[in-house]
Amino acid sequence: MNHEDCIFCKIINGDIPSAKVYEDEHVYAFLDISQVTKGHTLVIPKTHVKDIFETPPEVAKELYARIPKVANAIKETYQPLGLNTLNNNGEAAEQSVFHLHIHLIPRYGEGDGYT
Ligand code: 5GP
Ligand code: ZN
Repeated sequence: MNHEDCIFCKIINGDIPSAKVYEDEHVYAFLDISQVTKGHTLVIPKTHVKDIFETPPEVAKELYARIPKVANAIKETYQPLGLNTLNNNGEAAEQSVFHLHIHLIPRYGEGDGYT
């Protein structure tokens, strides 16, 4: 179920271009437009859910089950030394796009730009 006014739903539909990292029937992963570090990727469910508070277990299950696969794809491409996962929920937690997303932020050691 997609949401008319949601930019991430538009990305899933191909109405807004994105740099795809991974896709299957449940999730879409693409490079963040404003990369904190090289290879910064967002993983989103194809079902529109606003945030973790409104996420049905089945959607969470399919989304989180794919994080290792996407993390390994990033590892292979970018050869980072490590990787942070991050998920912001609600304005107070600095969520700015209200379609659930997991940030995968590759880390390259001191001075890699992540603060
Ligand atoms: P949040 O702040 O909600 O946790 O993260 C939203 C992320 O979406 C931000 O890191 C922002 O750079 C990214 N973003 C916002 N609009 C677009 C877009 O149109 N395309 C892509 N690839 N990333 C976007
Ligand atoms: Zn959406």
